[in-house]
Amino acid sequence: MQTAQGAWTHDAVLWDVVVVGAGPAGSSAARAAAAAGASVLLLDRTAFPRYKTCGGGLLGESLAEIPDSVRAVVETRVSEVVVTHEGRRSFTLRRSDPFLALVRRERFDLALVEAAQAAGARFEGGVAVRELSEAADGRMLVRTAEGTAAARTVIGADGSGGRVGRYVGVETGGVDLGLEDEVAMPAGRRRWGDTVLLDWGPEPGSYAWAFPKDEVLTVGVIARRGSPDATRAYLAAWKQHLGLAEADVVHSSGHLTQWRTAESPLRRGGVVVAGDAAGLLEPWTREGISFALRSGRWAGEAAAQAVAGGSRGPADGDAGGGLAEATGAGRADERALEAYAVRVREVLGAEQRTGAAILRAFEKRPGLVHTLLTRTRRGQDYFVRFCRGDTTLARFGGHRLAMGVVRLLGR
Ligand SMILES: Cc1cc2nc3c(=O)[nH]c(=O)nc-3n(C[C@H](O)[C@H](O)[C@H](O)COP(=O)(O)OP(=O)(O)OC[C@H]3O[C@@H](n4cnc5c(N)ncnc54)[C@H](O)[C@@H]3O)c2cc1C
Repeated sequence: MQTAQGAWTHDAVLWDVVVVGAGPAGSSAARAAAAAGASVLLLDRTAFPRYKTCGGGLLGESLAEIPDSVRAVVETRVSEVVVTHEGRRSFTLRRSDPFLALVRRERFDLALVEAAQAAGARFEGGVAVRELSEAADGRMLVRTAEGTAAARTVIGADGSGGRVGRYVGVETGGVDLGLEDEVAMPAGRRRWGDTVLLDWGPEPGSYAWAFPKDEVLTVGVIARRGSPDATRAYLAAWKQHLGLAEADVVHSSGHLTQWRTAESPLRRGGVVVAGDAAGLLEPWTREGISFALRSGRWAGEAAAQAVAGGSRGPADGDAGGGLAEATGAGRADERALEAYAVRVREVLGAEQRTGAAILRAFEKRPGLVHTLLTRTRRGQDYFVRFCRGDTTLARFGGHRLAMGVVRLLGR
């Protein structure tokens, strides 16, 4: 992968779209915008491939968003999930067809960047964005350690707690701490096979997982931020429970992750945010890749539309090559960007609302949620259909009776 070290040539260019961050949200945004004909510069502070703390679990919703070249990096297709509550009450959910896929994020994210490049986006790794500002003519100025890029629109996909989120004013509804150890696949790979293990933990809202990949086993826990010692102790206990206390740790890391409030802004002028940068994450499972892929694509499509409908200047027509000189040359049509914000609130907001209600029930009565999910036919089927992408939490949220039960449990 190229980096921009010593090779920054973008100062004199007016890009249609600059995307900050090349995780699933940023690469999807870049791919969609470039495919729609926009000139796109995709920046990431890290040179790729790069490690990302994540289980790498892909729902059907995520698989539906990615091209074949990216689907090719899936390492495990899961057809069995073993669920426990604090290590007990084990239940095995098995289906003949796989219903979940697992990837290593360094490979997955690299394949997504390559797909964006294939669509025409320019990628620069190793370039940290330091500041955003708006010029008088509406151009956005993206200041990096290497130089400044000018853009008609900016998509912030720089992850949780990122700079663009701060620029837009993203408000956080909840913050979690995720801890993960990647351990070398223990001898006797058969034992792990294509089985995922999940455990509902002792801290309210916490859970743990073990996700087998080709060469590693990703073992992690997630819990509300605020009790790091308890979260660390949970990871240690989980590894002990799995017989992995002495396992060879290849990578050990932690990451804060956040979800937005319902009112949190998604746009400021010509800047929109997507994925974790916008706090788009399902609060109960903390699943975020499908949110990143979908919001990223929508943001990319909206940015391309905003540029096509925006004010015209001398830079138009020579994608990424012209000088931005005329007053108004940089201004995009903000209606398309606003439509993006509305779409996110309607579709992903509904999923987040339901997820938050389930999280409340799960925090209060984890044992009962475990029973409903694992001991009832409906719960099991729903779990599998949700993983496959055959249904969504938004649809679940539309069931008045089911949601009545969820709200009652959360009181
Ligand atoms: C422990 C843990 C386990 C998880 N497991 C799962 C799972 O199994 N399945 C799932 O769906 N979700 C999971 N998630 C959530 C998932 O990882 C995120 O939701 C997802 O990565 C969001 O993608 P993104 O593109 O928005 O952000 P990210 O993947 O975080 O990408 C942001 C990118 O922006 C770059 N960046 C940051 N700042 C700058 C800057 N100033 N300039 C330039 N670049 C910058 C970063 O280098 C990074 O590459 C997990 C999260 C945690 C913490």
